[in-house]
Amino acid sequence: MDKQQNQIKRAKLQALQDQYTAELSHRIAAIQNSWGSVFSQDAYDKLNELHQLAHSLNGSAGSFGYIRLSQAAQDLEYALVSCLEVGALLDHLHSIAGAGPDVERPVEMARLPAKIVTENPLLYVIEDDPLLAEEIATQLGAYGWGVQVFNNATKAREALHQQLPAAMIADVVLPEGMLAGAGRLQPFQSLAEQGIPLILTSVRWDWEVRLAAARAGADAYLVKPLDFTILTDVLDKLICRNNYKPYRVLIVEDRREMAEHYAEVLRIAGMEVWVVTEPSLLLDALATFKPELVLMDLYMPECSGIEAARVIRQDASYLAIPIVYLSTESARQHQLAALQIGADDFLEKPITDAYLVSAVTLRVTRFRSLASMIRQDSMTGLLNHISFKLQLEAEFARSQRAASPLTFAMIDIDHFKQVNDHYGHLIGDQVIKSMAKLLRKRLRRSDMIGRYGGEEFAVVMPDTSLDTGCAVLDQLREQFSSIRQVSDQKTFTCTFSAGVATALPGTSGTMAMLIQQADAALYEAKNRGRNQVCHAG
Ligand code: GH3
Ligand code: MG
Ligand code: MG
Ligand code: MG
Repeated sequence: MDKQQNQIKRAKLQALQDQYTAELSHRIAAIQNSWGSVFSQDAYDKLNELHQLAHSLNGSAGSFGYIRLSQAAQDLEYALVSCLEVGALLDHLHSIAGAGPDVERPVEMARLPAKIVTENPLLYVIEDDPLLAEEIATQLGAYGWGVQVFNNATKAREALHQQLPAAMIADVVLPEGMLAGAGRLQPFQSLAEQGIPLILTSVRWDWEVRLAAARAGADAYLVKPLDFTILTDVLDKLICRNNYKPYRVLIVEDRREMAEHYAEVLRIAGMEVWVVTEPSLLLDALATFKPELVLMDLYMPECSGIEAARVIRQDASYLAIPIVYLSTESARQHQLAALQIGADDFLEKPITDAYLVSAVTLRVTRFRSLASMIRQDSMTGLLNHISFKLQLEAEFARSQRAASPLTFAMIDIDHFKQVNDHYGHLIGDQVIKSMAKLLRKRLRRSDMIGRYGGEEFAVVMPDTSLDTGCAVLDQLREQFSSIRQVSDQKTFTCTFSAGVATALPGTSGTMAMLIQQADAALYEAKNRGRNQVCHAG
């Protein structure tokens, strides 16, 4: 995150702190006044008398066998003693409030889940074998990576001063000598600090070289010959692409200064935060903001946090949102009651900023991965058939409203049965994954991609004309056919056919017709000899 932005946020946090301190003396005075209005000297004398009566009952009841009565009288006596002590407690309150906060509140700069990278991320590759270097550049290029190759580590290090890559891939054995990659990569250790992953490759797989790689701070180690499916998988895992969206947290808390403090802490950690101080506005906030976690105060004047959580859970579409209570409530019994209605956690105030950030991060991360498991096809990570259809429906309606064209494409891998027959099912799966990866890397973020069936894919391109859609698909077709698929030591290539159709605004077409048109166009592409893109109309 931008340093300057962080400074601004820290300043905002400090301002909240100052404001709190400024208001503190008024709050203490209000408490004293309020107590003063119920408690006069007369009341004090009466309370004292009451205390004497309770004390004497406590003493006598036990002697006549009224054990429980004696106990109850003792409880009353203690309660009255506490009341009599309020004056002294208020003085204490007053004096410590004036002394300022006991602890500095350092704001933890929580790290985002991973580095955020722009479109076409740049990779630095250190490889001294020119043929292999070319191969790496071509293969990774087909998946949408920008690749810059260096034939030695020194040159790569110089380039680092100019521009930082999204990741560095280096051969461990370079002309500079054995383990030059790992040894020479020591100065690249700053890469780790900046969150830039380092992948080392080598023909060696022995302990010595693996250890050297680990010491050089490698995030992954791949034995040559390189399997590009694995390499791109590793890159995907290590590099969080720019489809990272900030976590969305809704804070429900009646005290605005508390809410703003928590909000600011979470914002500094890179999250988006909405604050609701009146529970009656909760439903609107849920619908508009679509939070991924609700941070709920337990005690509010209008309704309790438990009641508010119940309202959230009444709506089936909010069943999965994590609800985390924030409260001073430390009695376990009450916590349990609060958790029983389907909340997920209980954070006790006061809570440190760091703990708040990590508790929230943990929950939202889990929420996201569960939500995506339901939506996505597990092999490719693309939308599964059902969720794709649902999204297509929403996109179709949106394009009609917005009066903009919507292009839809169906893609089917050619002669895929033969791939399975020749190379086996596992290699077939690899081809499917490479197709998915290509689509994900090459299409825009606004496009939707689904695994429609076994080796069939579907793509929705909003605000896209038929011509543009066909051109994009044809480019994809060429790129896919250039991906070298690897089976043991053999390599082969695959092709696909595609059918494209466009829904134009203002026409009477339905979504079902759009799908049917694309399907017919795909059929035509197959009939005309495959490895081509046909369009409807
Ligand atoms: P065409 O060019 O006409 O599309 O020929 P094709 O062989 O690709 O077409 P067909 O639809 O007849 O066969 C598709 C094959 O894809 C059949 C099925 O066994 C295979 N398949 C479907 N899902 C998967 C999968 O998840 N993994 C693997 N390895 N194969 C799959
Ligand atoms: Mg098929
Ligand atoms: Mg088929
Ligand atoms: Mg097929």
